Amino acid sequence: MNYKQAIDHPIFKTIGNAADELGVDCYIIGGFVRDYLLKKESAKDIDLVAIGSGIELAKKVAERLPGKPKVSIFKNFGTAMIKHKDLELEFVGARRESYQRDSRKPIVEDGSLEDDQNRRDFTINALAIGLNPHNHGVLLDPFNGIDDLENKIIRTPLDPNITYSDDPLRMMRAIRFAAQLNYEIELKSLQAITENKERIHIVSKERIVDELNKILMSNKPSIGFKLLHQTELLSYILPELKALQGIEEIEGQMHKDNFWHTLEVVDNIAKTTDNLWLRWAALLHDIGKAPTKRFDKKIGWTFHAHEFVGSKMVYKLFKRLHMPLNDKMKFVQKMVLMSSRPIILSEDHVTDSAVRRLVFDAGDYVEDLMTLCEADITTKNPRKQKRYLKNFQIVRQKIIEVEERDRIRNFQPPVSGEEIMKVFNLRPSKEIGIIKEAIKEAILSGKIPNEHDAAYNYMLQKGLEMGLKYSKK
Ligand code: ATP
Ligand code: MG
Repeated sequence: MNYKQAIDHPIFKTIGNAADELGVDCYIIGGFVRDYLLKKESAKDIDLVAIGSGIELAKKVAERLPGKPKVSIFKNFGTAMIKHKDLELEFVGARRESYQRDSRKPIVEDGSLEDDQNRRDFTINALAIGLNPHNHGVLLDPFNGIDDLENKIIRTPLDPNITYSDDPLRMMRAIRFAAQLNYEIELKSLQAITENKERIHIVSKERIVDELNKILMSNKPSIGFKLLHQTELLSYILPELKALQGIEEIEGQMHKDNFWHTLEVVDNIAKTTDNLWLRWAALLHDIGKAPTKRFDKKIGWTFHAHEFVGSKMVYKLFKRLHMPLNDKMKFVQKMVLMSSRPIILSEDHVTDSAVRRLVFDAGDYVEDLMTLCEADITTKNPRKQKRYLKNFQIVRQKIIEVEERDRIRNFQPPVSGEEIMKVFNLRPSKEIGIIKEAIKEAILSGKIPNEHDAAYNYMLQKGLEMGLKYSKK
């Protein structure tokens, strides 16, 4: 079949001619071909395989391109990269790979196109299109990848047991593609992943997290997490989530399955935000529930302080997975810590002071927190769902009103420490902190407005109560 259209960008002619000049064949392979056939926006990273030296071909191509772009050569990998406009062209020589037990880095030998297609992870990633003049636009699809695209199936070119055992990262990639494309993983593959799950330990944490992030950023992340659960990879990667799974019953009282609930929350939030870290917060918002679960004869199941415990667990989880321990982590912690606040608040009559406290504690993240809490509504009772959503609308509206009036976000004390010291002729001491705290409390509770003069008078009154002497200038 002819796929000239896929390669109508002039760069592909240039590459084909350069390859001919060197007397090698060259193919475009992998993600670009797959995404073209899926009618997705064309990928900007383009993988090219030469039946010969990829590095030599890259040099030849660069010579023929306007401005003679730089060729970055990665000798250890036998690859070369050229940046041309918004494209990244990655050249590699066709290779045959063999693996050792303890590493996902293969021993590499020169090979044919077939060898190179055999080493690819999935049939849909092994599709190649010829670029030389004699086979320009000819599709080579030895494993029926086209059919698998049609049938929405993830399948490995070779025996899946070997494919996944050789490079266990492919287990994560299979699940990630299933989530991104909404595909099924072939049964044989699923079984092989389950069998090889413990081999995930030879994959670096960073690569695992890359794939987790891609699953989280897909339209329906639950597809990926269900597969991680089904293949039992979840226990190795995110045991905190695995621990949420299951329902216990004591004296006829049950709690909800917090794992499946969490997946619903993540799917919900995927519809309203593309913020990766907010999606992480949704994934982790209930992790404190496993270690805090108790049964009390009078009140039934409780998860006392699970938000606090959960936020502590976020740090350990990020650290274990070599994720950034920076403001992103702190953001996720804050979301987990505060994840029940808007719900508690909206169950009651929504008062201004409760909203002020919420804004004070959440600061700039208050909208993100509301987004998380809205996603957290997974009740199947339509009346309840409607009521919760309506209450959250009221909270959101009140946040805007209160903020306009009281400017609580990024709160700055309206009376400074220096002013307090001067008025009462104090040295730095704990009295100053007490007065500042009292002013803040008075503002949040609505006793006084967030203004200097009102706060100043309140300070005088408070100081008097504390027996401080007013120092006249
Ligand atoms: P995306 O770029 O959307 O993540 P992709 O399929 O292009 O998807 P890349 O990581 O860019 O993924 O890899 C390019 C190609 O290299 C793949 O299409 C596949 O043929 C091959 N490949 C990548 N990683 C592996 C692997 N671990 N095992 C075997 N083949 C792989
Ligand atoms: Mg790619």
